[in-house]
Parts: sequence; C-alpha cells; structure tokens
Amino acid sequence: MLDTEVRYVKGVGERLSKLMGKLGVFTVRDLLTHFPHRYEDRSRFLKIGQLRPGDAATFIGTVAHTENVRTPRSHKLLTKVAVQDGTGVVTLVWFNQHYIKPKFDKLRGREIVVYGTALYSNRGLEIVNPEWEEEDSGGDSTATGRIVPVYPLTEGLFQSTVRKAIHRALDTYLSKLGDVLPDEIMNRRDLVDVQCAYKNIHFPESQEALDAARYRLVYEELFLLQLALAMRKQNVTTAQPGIVFEIAPEYTRAFYDSLPFDFTTAQKRVVAEIHRDMSRPTAMNRLVQGDVGSGKTVVAVAAMMVAVHNGYQTAMMAPTEILAEQHYRVLSRILENLGVETALLIGSMTAKQKRLVRERVASGEVKVVVGTHALIQEDVEFKNLGFAVIDEQHRFGVLQRAALREKGWSPDVLVMTATPIPRTLALTVYGDLDLSVVDELPPGRKPIRTHWKTVDQRKSVYDGVRKLIEQGRQVYIVCPLVEESEKLQAEAATVLAERLKAEVFPDLELALIHGKMKTADKDDVMRRFRDGEIQILVATTVIEVGVDVPNACVMVVEDAERFGLAQLHQLRGRVGRGEHQSFCVLVADPKTDDGRERLEVMARTTNGFEIAEEDLRIRGPGEFYGTRQSGLPSFRIANILRDVEILEQSREDAFALVKADPNLRKPDHAELRAEVFRRFEGYELVAVS
Ligand code: ADP
Ligand code: MG
Repeated sequence: MLDTEVRYVKGVGERLSKLMGKLGVFTVRDLLTHFPHRYEDRSRFLKIGQLRPGDAATFIGTVAHTENVRTPRSHKLLTKVAVQDGTGVVTLVWFNQHYIKPKFDKLRGREIVVYGTALYSNRGLEIVNPEWEEEDSGGDSTATGRIVPVYPLTEGLFQSTVRKAIHRALDTYLSKLGDVLPDEIMNRRDLVDVQCAYKNIHFPESQEALDAARYRLVYEELFLLQLALAMRKQNVTTAQPGIVFEIAPEYTRAFYDSLPFDFTTAQKRVVAEIHRDMSRPTAMNRLVQGDVGSGKTVVAVAAMMVAVHNGYQTAMMAPTEILAEQHYRVLSRILENLGVETALLIGSMTAKQKRLVRERVASGEVKVVVGTHALIQEDVEFKNLGFAVIDEQHRFGVLQRAALREKGWSPDVLVMTATPIPRTLALTVYGDLDLSVVDELPPGRKPIRTHWKTVDQRKSVYDGVRKLIEQGRQVYIVCPLVEESEKLQAEAATVLAERLKAEVFPDLELALIHGKMKTADKDDVMRRFRDGEIQILVATTVIEVGVDVPNACVMVVEDAERFGLAQLHQLRGRVGRGEHQSFCVLVADPKTDDGRERLEVMARTTNGFEIAEEDLRIRGPGEFYGTRQSGLPSFRIANILRDVEILEQSREDAFALVKADPNLRKPDHAELRAEVFRRFEGYELVAVS
C-alpha cells in the first residue's frame, strides 16, 4: 500500500507527481516521509482590530468587497479584497494575479481564515500575498489556525499543493502504517505510536505533540540504522571466526628497540587494544582515530609485526601513491633489520614490476605489501593474508574495505583515519567498527602557529618564508584549489611554481609536485625534499594526506578560502612534525561569512576534533563529512548535531536487542527485521545473510 505511486494519491496526478519526483518523492511512503523542514505557529487567532503592523498573525474575517485596479505608474494589476470582523477592516492585496478576484467574488459574505503580516500603506492597513483558506475547511485546515508545516519545495511546486497532498495521503494511508518498534522499547523510551507520530509531524496539534512526534521519528530512524550496524557487526564477528594470533612479548620487543623514540601512552594503549583483538578467535574490525601527527603508522606496524611473526602476510593500503611510497619506505627501513620481505604495489608501476610483485605475494615470499587501490585488484592474490591495514579510511568506501578483507581468510582489519570526526558521528559512520583513539601527540611538538593573511600581505608572507629557509627549514606552498579536474589543478600549480621561481625565489631550490606527474618524477621530488635538497615544494593537494617530512615547518596555503576545514587541517598537519616551531599561513580574502568563520576556526585551534565539530556546525549535517563515501543513506529527519542524545539511546537499545536476538529471528521482531532490510537494501550494511 505504502509503495503505491504518488500519482494515485487523490489530487496529485501526473503533472504533480513529476515535480515530486524531483524531490525524491515517488511513492506514498516517500510522500509521508517528506518531512517539513520547519513550522510556523499560526495557531493563535487575533481580531482584525488587534493586528499590529509588522507582526505575522492569523485571523478570521468575512469577505466584504473585491476590486481590481491598475497601479498608477507601473500599471500592474492590483487585486484588493476587503475583509472585516466587526473590530476592523483589512485589505488583502495581490499583484498581477488574474484568477484571484473571481475566486473571492464567489466567497463574498463568507468567512475565511487569513495568515500574513499586516502593514500600513497609503491604502491603509493591508496584507500583501497572504495565505488563506475558507473557514468551513474546519478541522482539515492545512494552512491556517494551527502550527503549519513548511516543506522543502522544488521549482513549480507550491507549499499549499504539497500540504494538501500530504494531508490527503495521511487521510487515506495513515491507518496502514504499522508500528515496527518493540513494545518494550516504546515503553522504555516513552515513544508515541507511529500513526500519532506521522500525523503530528505534518500537522501538529500542539508544540508538545510535535516534539513527541519528532522524537519518535528521529529515534526510529537512528534505531533502524544502529540495528543494521549491530547486525552487520554481529555477523562479521560470529559468522567470521578470525585468526588467533599469539602475542609474545619478544615479537614486539625487537621492533620497539629499533625505533628512535618511545611510544606515547596513547600509542601503547591503542596497540594493547589491537593486540587484544588479534588474540581473540573472532575477526578484528577496529578503527584507529588520531589527529594528524599522532603517530598512527608505527601503531599499525606494531600490530603488523605480530601477524608476520605468526607466519601470516599483512597488507597496508593507502589512498595516494605518494603516501603508499612513504609508508613503504618507513616500513622497509624498520622491517629490513628484522629480516622481513617487503614490497610496494601501486598502479603506476610498470606491468612487469607489478607482475613480479604479484608473484612474490602469491607465493608468500613477500610478508608485507604496501600499496594503493592496486592491492584490491582482482589479479592480486595472497598466500595467507592475515592482517590488513587501511590508512586514511575516509578516502575509501566500505566496499573497498570489504574488498581488501576478502583477499584473505577472515583477516583482522585495522582502519586508520586522521580526519577526526566527533565521536557520535564516528559511531554512526563507522558504526560497525570498534573505536580506538590516539589522543596524544608525541612529546616535544610545538603547537603550530596559524596566521590568516590577506592577499595584500603576500609579500610579507614570502619574506617570512625566506627567513625560515635561511635558518635551514623547508616550506610547502599549496596552490589554490581548482575543482574541475586534476589536469587544471596541475596547470595551476605549474603556473604558480614558475611565477615564484621567476619573481620571488630565483635563488632558492624550488620544485613542483602534482597528481599528473609520473610516479618516478614524484618519487624523485619527494626524495629530494625529504633529503633537504629542495627548499620550497609547490604542491597541489596531493600532499594533503600522510606526508611526513619533519624539517618542513611552514605550510602556506594560497586562496585558503577555497578549501574545506577538514582539508586545511590535513594540510596543516604536514608541518609541526619535528622539533622546530612550525607555521601555517592561510592567504585568503574570503567573500562569505562561512569562509571567514572557517579561517577564524583554523587560526584559533589546532585540535582536530574541535575543527571537525566546527566543520559540522558550519556546513550543517546535511552534507557532513564522509557519509557519502561511508555508504550510509542520508537522514530523513535525524540531525546528527542536534540529536546526539537520541543517537546514543538508540545505539544502546539496538546493540542490546541484537545481542539478545542476533539477526532478529524471533517472530516478534519479524517486521522490525523486514523494515531494517527494506531501509538499508543496497547499502552493504545488511548484505550479510
Ligand atoms: P599520523 O599518520 O598519525 O599523522 P605518523 O605516523 O606519520 O602520524 O607520525 C608522525 C611523525 O611522528 C613521524 O615522523 C613518526 O616517526 C613520529 N612519531 C610517531 N610516534 C612517535 C613517538 N612516540 N615519539 C616521537 N615521534 C613519533
Ligand atoms: Mg598517517
């Protein structure tokens, strides 16, 4: 019933249903879940004599007089409808709407309900373009005398049309809505029933009824999502018995001894959490979150060592070739001493090189392989992949995570992300993972100083850059973001590099890196930058993730207002990795308030979690970070910022329910289960059994 096409709803028809399709409304169910994005309280009626110019108000009056006139100068058609109620008269006014007068002619002497804002003009007290309806619409009044829903619209669709369509759909279909939530939860959380919720979310009887309806619907939306996540998690862990790794202290000791530093307390704690997972007979699925520079790579290596010593192969996947190469370099330096065969596999290697690596991986000769997406190509086979690491998970999707997992027999999977997202969001976006947080930076790091400079001040920025280079430091200059293509981006970087070389730093070693360069060339530039041969690296955002050169301590971002907060934070994370005071200079003349706000946030804090919260606040939850890639559907009513508490409640309830009834097989939960599957079909979330 609820899947009935929307054009069959009384009064909708062919033309309207096309427009509604643009809003994603195709079925009755879609229509009923086309929720208002705000409300107007028109529930308090005034007398016409009480109308105050400038205040919005609702009143009832009798149509006394109608008239069409032309405005003196512009010759517009002006329709005037006088309405009275014994306490006063007010004129309703429309411009250039020929159909208005005939309508009101028929209503003369009848009562109408009007909503609008009265103003004084030289014609007296009037309301331009009011909303109104006939008073005899009684309890079905959709636009006046109540808290009125305001819906998202599309070109050509009117508020009143949508209101009426939804009102009719509720008349016919409300009774068909069944409650899927378990009684026990309805009672515990004090939720109103589903029909009451749908009725009041659209046409609230009161503010309290609206609040209760919203709570119920938000809860349900989040609860179903958390159920899907809980079931997925349950399936991954029980349906997939994992490898039991033996954790012997001597495995890791040699590794620790080979490092030039001690682990931070946070790193030790996270390694212990990972090792504990690894020693269990179920497959690990853990997310390690840690701000840029918190030292996640070595944490991963400490876990990979255990797998290698247990005789298994391990893989580490990174989103860019530069990052994969860097990891490969770090890992092979550590692992060489320990006699572990390591290999790199990235797309831009020659076919022959790739084949050779694939053969050595398939035979089991290579114990540790680092790479990009190239690792999850079909032709890559492992002998016994037991442990997989995915770095910068936010750059990958759920499917890619699954693809890497499938390269082994139930390997343990560790995903790492430097894009800190608020815990509640993490619980949702990565809801099927366990969460570890490296919430401490290695000692001795000096907080990065961030300055926002206008374009006029560019020269002084370059002077500052020069001074630091004279002191032996190195500098990144990131060119303005060009969205269209990597090719244009590369061109922009080339132009900037040439200009800087010719006009500003002719005497310094300056090089360019961008995504369109050959791997060998990129590799060469990165090596020379790392070795200190290059003083200024002009770059596109290819250096955004992961790159680690401790002597580089200035990050200049040109036209910084074009970048998102998360991206600026990542870029800034490229400096502040060594003992020297580091600087981030954002050169920008923002044109919008949002743009200014973003730069202020950057200058104010270096705390990635705080920045993520701000990002979410400025951009709004509609497009919060990473959900598209994470493979989650967008929310219809929940607002991840506002509904944190409900998210936590629903998560607790959902995980408890799935624990008590894995896969929701109990007859009582049949409808709930069906609803979860219906809602998340095609979302990978419920792909298992
Ligand atoms: P992330 O990936 O978390 O941004 P990295 O793993 O790239 O950070 O580490 C950043 C830098 O900090 C690297 O140069 C690394 O060698 C160094 N590092 C990591 N852990 C420590 C530590 N405990 N003490 C000192 N330096 C560390
Ligand atoms: Mg990293």
